[in-house]
Amino acid sequence: MKNIHYTLNWNNIEVEQSPRKFISQASKVKGFEEFFNLARNVKYRRTNIDWKSTFEVLSDDDPSNITTFKSSRRKAEKIKFLMEKLPTIEQIKKSLLDIYDNWLCPICSDVIEDFNHIWLCVCHVNILQKIVRDSQHFILTSDFCHVSLTDINSLDNFWNWSIDNNCLTFIDFIKVVCTIIGDLHEFTYNEVMNNIWKSRCELQVVLEKNLSITKKKKLDSRLNFSANSSFNFINNTNFSSVD
Ligand SMILES: [Zn+2]
Repeated sequence: MKNIHYTLNWNNIEVEQSPRKFISQASKVKGFEEFFNLARNVKYRRTNIDWKSTFEVLSDDDPSNITTFKSSRRKAEKIKFLMEKLPTIEQIKKSLLDIYDNWLCPICSDVIEDFNHIWLCVCHVNILQKIVRDSQHFILTSDFCHVSLTDINSLDNFWNWSIDNNCLTFIDFIKVVCTIIGDLHEFTYNEVMNNIWKSRCELQVVLEKNLSITKKKKLDSRLNFSANSSFNFINNTNFSSVD
């Protein structure tokens, strides 16, 4: 057995690098391909995106190459931004509908809260305006920012926080999908996290506490949801051969 050697092939091509490295890279490419082809990414397939820089920002540039809980959590948060998977009310309704049915945006209490509404919420307009102004100020005053305001201003719609199906806007920049990244993104991302998303989550916690929505209640609801899903699957499945 000791003399038996294997070669790893992929699509009939011999893999020359180590299997571990190859599988890791193949997995990343497959994951990116699936993300890239998502329906919501039509705009990004049509525009000039620097994906390499985008994923460098996502990796959170920890120079030590050591994954800490903090860096891991930050990376997970950024991926949720990119994937539009922040736990908004509409998102959590998918698994906890019995608790959150009829819930609206916790900030304005006026409309449903999906990913886009975070930026369009009437209560966030002033905060976003300030973040835009502070980001521009950061570019002008920081020694660490390597892009000029002139360069950024040349990008149409960059400072607009609207949702646009064709152009890249400030919202895309927050999601790290943009050609200009680095320290400016870090600054802007922190401002958005601290002044919009974290504040919103703190308010959500208070609302849930007032309504006695505990972790246990959510867990029970999830378990019920899973059980019902399995039950529906079994009842809706046509078994071609039943003895
Ligand atoms: Zn709102």
